[in-house]
Amino acid sequence: NAVCVTGTLDDCACDVETIDSFNNKEIFPKLQKLLSSDYFRFYKVNLNNPCPFWTDHSQCGLKYCAVKPCTEVSFSKCIRLRNFICDFIGSLCVSIQASQDIEECEKAEKLGAVDGSLSDETRQALQEWKKHDDESDRFCMLDDEDSPKSQYVDLLLNPERFTGYKGPEAWRIWNSIYEENCFKPYSVKRPLNPLASNSGQGFYRWLEGLCVEKRAFFRLVSGLHASINTHLSARYLLDENWFEMKWGHNVSEFQQRFDEELTEGEGPKRLRNLYFLYLIELRALAKILPYFERPAFHLYTGQRTQDNENKKLLLELLHVAKSFPLHFDETALFAGNKKEAMKLKEDFKMTFKNISRIMDCVECFKCRLWGKLQTQGLGTALKILFSERQIEAMPNMSNTNPSFQLSRQEIVSLFNAFGRYCMSIIYFCQDIFS
Ligand code: FAD
Repeated sequence: NAVCVTGTLDDCACDVETIDSFNNKEIFPKLQKLLSSDYFRFYKVNLNNPCPFWTDHSQCGLKYCAVKPCTEVSFSKCIRLRNFICDFIGSLCVSIQASQDIEECEKAEKLGAVDGSLSDETRQALQEWKKHDDESDRFCMLDDEDSPKSQYVDLLLNPERFTGYKGPEAWRIWNSIYEENCFKPYSVKRPLNPLASNSGQGFYRWLEGLCVEKRAFFRLVSGLHASINTHLSARYLLDENWFEMKWGHNVSEFQQRFDEELTEGEGPKRLRNLYFLYLIELRALAKILPYFERPAFHLYTGQRTQDNENKKLLLELLHVAKSFPLHFDETALFAGNKKEAMKLKEDFKMTFKNISRIMDCVECFKCRLWGKLQTQGLGTALKILFSERQIEAMPNMSNTNPSFQLSRQEIVSLFNAFGRYCMSIIYFCQDIFS
């Protein structure tokens, strides 16, 4: 009774089997090691932003929805991370204590700084421009890292798993994402209540009428949804008593969501969308290699040896990603009439930004944490894919401040989000759901 998908994926020349084998043997072992390092395990996030879309949302009281603060052991690491005083290129950072690093930072800051001969007014204007340019590059809303409400969260302490968040509150989020933010013609209604028929209206038929970009957009969101639901089924609360909680695979939960018969044909399509999402992010990783190859880039945590080893591992991973033989061809997107393509890209960006804002409406904090991280990761992947010219123009061996930038938050979310999809594929391949 295995729930799995096979064969070629739509809109790309790649098959599921090639991805499975590449992911499991080449990508996952390296990525898993990287994600357990300090640089990648601490994610700065504001979980207290108010929901910008509706006011009647309640605080979630479910105990599995709580996000744990850093432990005693990891606390000193959090403090050190909080103490960054220089994050001028989002990569070369220093901590207050490390004087050697401060020197390095000041040197590099000069290189990246606006010309000292400019008037204050011009400098301010240039900074405004840069802020604007950075914003317009983005596909998602970033939390203000300097806000006192933004906190470091230890992702290893807060794994994505079953929380019990479900019913009308969760449906409202998914509904608002699909109904209002997926380019869907409004006349097409789909049953959001899982008790209703899944396929009733031939839901996927409307997708066929969409252009490739809008179809891709829907598939990315659906892939993200599928990954979240895979994780909650794979790390389900099976039993609990006063002393312990037992977490494990819940096969029937997974089947309810993905089995072909039980979902009237939709489940396998959702899983295929997850593979599509994987391919998009893999492509972004392959493209961003020159950014991380620059000598000025460090995965800074203040532990020099460890940081250097992590950078080496990161580059190995990206070289492997680049070697994938059947990459998604993103040039097929936004390739038509220039004016129309620009407009479509803008719509794409705005709509995706909206989805990242909807994450502030997720009542369950743990779900909000991983929802924000994954939308930010996907937004970063899209930003990379559509910044090809800036990345290619990046002088390979230069220490200067390149025009294309990724913040630490974007880097951490990009790799951790990709880690979620890799893990979902591992779950399918282990046949734990059959
Ligand atoms: P839902 O998953 O709520 O789906 C609603 C409807 O959408 C379904 O009836 C179906 O018609 C359709 N649908 C389902 N999957 C797809 C897909 N892949 N593509 C297209 N359409 C689809 N719960 C946890 O336990 N842990 C978490 O970490 C967690 N994180 C979440 C993060 C976010 C941002 C949100 C919105 C919810 C999260 N949830 C989490 C809740 C979880 O996703 C489900 O909403 C919940 O388990 C209820 O599931 P359901 O069967 O009612 O259908």
